[in-house]
Amino acid sequence: MYNRYQRLKTFLSIALILLLGGTFLIFAMPDKPNSPEPTDVDVNECVSACALPSHVDLSGDGFPVKRTEAEWRERLTELQYSVTREQGTERPFENPYNDNKRTGLYRCIGCDTPLFSSTDKFNSGTGWPSFTQPIDSRTLGEHKDTSYGMQRVEVHCKICGSHQGHVFPDGPKPTGLRYCINSASLSFEETESPEAVKKLVEAWYQVEGE
Ligand SMILES: [Zn+2]
Repeated sequence: MYNRYQRLKTFLSIALILLLGGTFLIFAMPDKPNSPEPTDVDVNECVSACALPSHVDLSGDGFPVKRTEAEWRERLTELQYSVTREQGTERPFENPYNDNKRTGLYRCIGCDTPLFSSTDKFNSGTGWPSFTQPIDSRTLGEHKDTSYGMQRVEVHCKICGSHQGHVFPDGPKPTGLRYCINSASLSFEETESPEAVKKLVEAWYQVEGE
């Protein structure tokens, strides 16, 4: 006989299944990364046409900008030093640029080279600032990183050697790449518009190149 007790039991079973299923979906589904805000300004456009500044000679083995241990310590905070000089990783979410939605230019903390633009930044949900591409692939070096038993591609500033983060092949359009970068490796210069970011980038190539 299908009595009230059985009906209640059936109802509770279904409720429990729905609850567990919903919880599973919430935690198992990865956040879909948001693509960067569309803009008509291509900050990277000038770069391929520009020669690198004269102090940036990448033909040798070493990095063009060299500093002594004392100079690095003087220039960087303890966290910036451990991330950029000792391949460290800062804590996710508790870093200044993860949630930074302002327009502007991200430079290398070690040498002020423009590395990333806010126009390529997207919310990856990882807790670190994420970009679909660097401003200039010539100034961002890559190397295979097998530390912690993982196969990852490490990225660093090619001008001063400062470790930046890693690049993964699971990013949004247009590149499908996710440059996962430490805030501690960057300094941020806010601008009024993407055009102004582009001007700053051009200034680095032109003024420094004189
Ligand atoms: Zn640098």
